Amino acid sequence: MVKSSKYRATTRLVHGPTHSAKWDFSHHVTPPLSSSTTYRLDSAKRGARGFKEFGSYVPDRGETPVYIYDRLDEPTRSILEGELADVEGGEACVTFASGMAAISAALSSVLVPGDMLIAHPVVYGCTHSLFTHWYPRQGIEVERVNMNDIDGLRATIDERTRILYFESPVNPTLELVDIGAIRELVDELNARRDPDRQILIVIDNTFATPFGQRPLELGADVVLHSLTKNLGGFGTEVGGAVICPRDMLASLLLYRKDFGAILSSKSAWAIMVYGLPTLALRLKRQQYTALKLAHWLEDHPNIQRVVYPGLASHPQRELALKQMRDFDDDPAPGSMIYFEFDPERVDVLEFVDELAANAYSVTLAVSLGHTKTLIEVPGSMTHSVYGVASSSVRLSVGLESPVDIIRDLQNAMEAVERKTRKKAHHTI
Ligand SMILES: *Cc1c(COP(=O)(O)O)cnc(C)c1O
Repeated sequence: MVKSSKYRATTRLVHGPTHSAKWDFSHHVTPPLSSSTTYRLDSAKRGARGFKEFGSYVPDRGETPVYIYDRLDEPTRSILEGELADVEGGEACVTFASGMAAISAALSSVLVPGDMLIAHPVVYGCTHSLFTHWYPRQGIEVERVNMNDIDGLRATIDERTRILYFESPVNPTLELVDIGAIRELVDELNARRDPDRQILIVIDNTFATPFGQRPLELGADVVLHSLTKNLGGFGTEVGGAVICPRDMLASLLLYRKDFGAILSSKSAWAIMVYGLPTLALRLKRQQYTALKLAHWLEDHPNIQRVVYPGLASHPQRELALKQMRDFDDDPAPGSMIYFEFDPERVDVLEFVDELAANAYSVTLAVSLGHTKTLIEVPGSMTHSVYGVASSSVRLSVGLESPVDIIRDLQNAMEAVERKTRKKAHHTI
């Protein structure tokens, strides 16, 4: 071993000890936050082995991989990926710098010019933008078909079709897609297709989280997540994940290495240490509150429609009970509520402005799956590009007391009603 004591302090401060018995990682209770951009290779031979093994799937043999450089692979991220694959019931997971990086990587690493992707008409706003701004320029055709219209899907799929893409629940409308029904159709069609032209079912499971829905068990091939939302859970980290079959892993790792959108090890650590262990606890509390809010909204004369998968009135209630189940197999309707005001009675923008000015427990902000309850108006914000009702509201339920959230919503409603009455009075 090299003796560092022969070197000047300037150099010693750069290199630190050549060896330390202080890193006893195997006895940590909380995993250590590893953050090293590059790795000592020990020998050219070991370095060459690292490059050779990168991307070739090596199941955990109880041996530390040869880490080379953070952008290729890194231990903290890699442990998080193992946990996410496990909780979704998938073979492999690759994390990314954001949900959008994960979505674009999963799709773009499969699609080539001339291919067709079929997507549900309503998807996350930036996913819609990926489909409308970028894929046409890359020679990838995007068709929009209601994923619950199996005959329409069958009629649209042709030999160019590679991917069926959707969210369930759909952001922001909380409509559900029957994953099993699509699986049946795809199995029938795939039986007649080449092994390398199989149709893949890709679902963005951000709204439900693996706590509330495991799409691979229901028939999907690939699951996508924005880790920024409930998986991270505290509103401090941005990240994304692809959970996929083993045979997609090498190509996704190559894609991430070359396009470069890696999840930082610090974010991976926070998601692993704070987000995942509290996921079930947070979701259960959010669902408890969400159901109370949904009932309250449903009974309110100013509201003309409430969509929440936990309500008996959800148009796909049976499907919700079938697909959205938690780790204990209990119903898991999630933490998101969509509702529409009667535009004759309440102006939605006045309502959220009132909340923004005077509410404490409800915050006007995009994003979701946070400890704090967030409200936004999809018709003029996240989904302004397409036809979501302009009087609609998306509510992401947090961990506050339901009593307080209802009071803040009620106060905002009353304030807007007073203003509306005043205006009506002046115009008479
Ligand atoms: C937020 C979100 C995304 C994008 O995730 P980012 O981490 O913001 O890139 C994708 N899909 C859904 C359903 C989302 O809510």
